[in-house]
Amino acid sequence: MSRQSTKYIFITGGVVSSLGKGIVAASLGRLLRSRGYSVSIQKFDPYINVDPGTMSPFQHGEVYVTNDGAETDLDLGHYERFIDTSLTSINNVTAGSVYLNVISKERRGDYLGATVQTIPHITDEIKSRIHEASSKLDPDFLICEIGGTIGDIEGLPFVEAVRQFRYDVGLKNTCFIHVTLVPYLKTSGEVKTKPSQHSVNALRNVGIQPDILVCRTESDLGENERLKLAQFTNVDPESVIQCLDQECLYEVPLALEKEGLAKQVLSRLGLENTIPNLEDWKKTVHALKHPSRTVKIALAGKYTGLSDAYLSVIEAIKHAAASVDSAVEFKWINTEDCVDQDSAEAFLQDVDGLVVPGGFGYRGIEGKIEVIRYARENNLPFLGLCLGMQCAVIEFARNVAQLTRANSAEFDPMTDQPVIGLMDDQRNVIDKGGTMRLGQYPCHLVKGSKAHEAYASDAIMERHRHRFEVNNDYRKILSDAGMVFSGMSPDRKLVEIAEIENHPWFVGSQFHPEFQSRPDKAHPLFKGLLAAAVEYRYSDSAKASLKSPEIV
Ligand code: GLN
Repeated sequence: MSRQSTKYIFITGGVVSSLGKGIVAASLGRLLRSRGYSVSIQKFDPYINVDPGTMSPFQHGEVYVTNDGAETDLDLGHYERFIDTSLTSINNVTAGSVYLNVISKERRGDYLGATVQTIPHITDEIKSRIHEASSKLDPDFLICEIGGTIGDIEGLPFVEAVRQFRYDVGLKNTCFIHVTLVPYLKTSGEVKTKPSQHSVNALRNVGIQPDILVCRTESDLGENERLKLAQFTNVDPESVIQCLDQECLYEVPLALEKEGLAKQVLSRLGLENTIPNLEDWKKTVHALKHPSRTVKIALAGKYTGLSDAYLSVIEAIKHAAASVDSAVEFKWINTEDCVDQDSAEAFLQDVDGLVVPGGFGYRGIEGKIEVIRYARENNLPFLGLCLGMQCAVIEFARNVAQLTRANSAEFDPMTDQPVIGLMDDQRNVIDKGGTMRLGQYPCHLVKGSKAHEAYASDAIMERHRHRFEVNNDYRKILSDAGMVFSGMSPDRKLVEIAEIENHPWFVGSQFHPEFQSRPDKAHPLFKGLLAAAVEYRYSDSAKASLKSPEIV
């Protein structure tokens, strides 16, 4: 059983999906952390996939990977970035994983002849995951966000489970927050409370009376609207919290602090409100909002324009830009449209840096190789992430090491120059779900390399999600041609970072550094890229009078 001292905050959403419940959960986490409490956040996803690892980024956005190798919902990325606490597989519970456990127990005969039902077996399994999180992670506050919208059929077992949970651990240990949309109608110039009233009714129908309403709105809620919402939803007027759209994501905690969200939560849970220390967070927000210059970074991925598919990469670039006093403008490149060096030049002539993110499959690969070649030959700062690093190795092999047919066994299983090959322990893997090299592994850095300088450390830990690797049979040919394998697994069997000399910044990592970037702690590799991009844009112009970037 969980410690009684853990307090539980449940967050549901109403009216529409994509309301930003994850940001509200993460922001509340930040406000409680800033008061000195420990916080963990758990996400319930009502879909039947066991984890999002097998889902297309078109459907689900990026797959966020935790230190312990769980493939999770992208909201966990928001949580980690806001509460600066590493989460684990316990922090993401899908309906698929719940049903899988219950059905496995049934097959083992654990239920001793009982009829296995949604209530109590599925709901008990969900409750046991909440208890597991509080007992293993032992936070002062466990915030649980229920994915989807109230009224969704598939979310019902989760809602019922948390309803029961409140009864089990006691009213004074739980707080229910309902996040809703209060739309603004331009034609009548009014905000409308009715959808929120209906949504709270739907929540009450399944037995939950919210303690606090967080109202997403683009226009200020007037006193009348607040009172109306309070009156029709039985929520105290001071617990009707408005959440105005913010220019910068990281401002949301500050806006919610002003609105008194944490104060209301603490008062519900019988705890005294204290003054949060948000000074550093405010400085971070200021740096993100008021940089003195701008750089343009090209993102050459498969899901162009679909920012959720590269969420952590985009956030990591923004963090790094702010750390070198710069804003960032993104340029999406569909590499299927890039067929040669002329088109690579046309795409890249107005940018200051190139990022080739992770991905799977052959589509767009030749175009990625073209843009990487352009970056290498034209001193354009480049960062390759996982697949991006593998493409950089192929490009270098073909165009510098004269391995003209070099390829990855992923794109051409019959290639006779597989500079990227399947990892040994992947050869007999058949299942797709959860079978890659996943999670945190150590990496040793080579002194004198860009990576070593950026990290200012001999050894690092980074998160992985891949099946292929640099083929060791080609390491000598590639390093003789000038490629530096600046990051290696401790046994020196796996290449973790590849870079080239005599280039301002040309670095590729087999791991995904984006997962460890924080708004106030830009990741060293992204910072290295952005510092080089600033240099690339401003070095020989009048703008050089601006503060020069430093890698610290
Ligand atoms: N498809 C490549 C592999 O499996 C890269 C994976 C990635 O970019 N996450 O190794």
